Amino acid sequence: MKILVAVKRVVDYNIKVRVKADGSDVDIDGIKMSVNPFDENAIEEALRLKEQGKATEVIAVSIGTAANQDVLRHALAMGADKAILVESATSIQPLGVAKILKAIVLRKQPGLILLGKQAIDDDAGQAGQMLAALLDYPQATYASNITLENDTLHVTRETESGTEVVALTLPAVVTADLRLNDPRFVKLPNLMMARKKVIETINVADLSTDTDSKLKQLKVSEPPTRKPGIKVNSVTELLSKLRAHDNLKL
Ligand code: AMP
Repeated sequence: MKILVAVKRVVDYNIKVRVKADGSDVDIDGIKMSVNPFDENAIEEALRLKEQGKATEVIAVSIGTAANQDVLRHALAMGADKAILVESATSIQPLGVAKILKAIVLRKQPGLILLGKQAIDDDAGQAGQMLAALLDYPQATYASNITLENDTLHVTRETESGTEVVALTLPAVVTADLRLNDPRFVKLPNLMMARKKVIETINVADLSTDTDSKLKQLKVSEPPTRKPGIKVNSVTELLSKLRAHDNLKL
């Protein structure tokens, strides 16, 4: 069984982003980009299923410009067998991503498709669900544990009220939560080897899918700045400040 893993290139989670002066978007010029953190969990889980002898091949796919080769090489260095770059000059919204991934699924016929639960740049949390709907495959989102026996996948899901275990028949779509695993560190020699691997490149136009944006981004702005805090010298002072503020009955 093949596993397809969707890997998005996003601003590194340690970076504090700036908004462009004209408010049109976030300024990513010269900023460190990385694999979307939840997608690293998805890659790790695919590799573990392969190491358990439950998958034969792990294929990483990323949609974006030639720059996305870096996240694909990271996936290869972690242990993915193959990588596919779907080249698109324009940024693609989750529905377009789902349509492209569907086209790749139909070409490569994976038994399991793993995605992150959300991309940390758009925070949409939509591509996996839309992909499952387009393929008419069962789906489990926010996975924190996965076990595969024969053709049945048991997925523990993180929900608002606790955890839920669902059983899915393959082929299926699963989106990964951070609790799913601890992704392995990439060793330098593996990164060097990954540099030599061939990345299959497909032009988005060759997939004959409608990837037009359905939403228009009107404005991007910084969150309101928080007022600076003050230091108090005693509990008595703290209580008097709290009483003065908001008329608290303390
Ligand atoms: P989103 O719905 O945008 O929050 O993204 C959810 C997941 O879809 C991500 O964690 C990725 O696994 C996948 N995904 C989104 N955009 C892309 C992309 N451009 N290339 C590859 N995978 C993507």
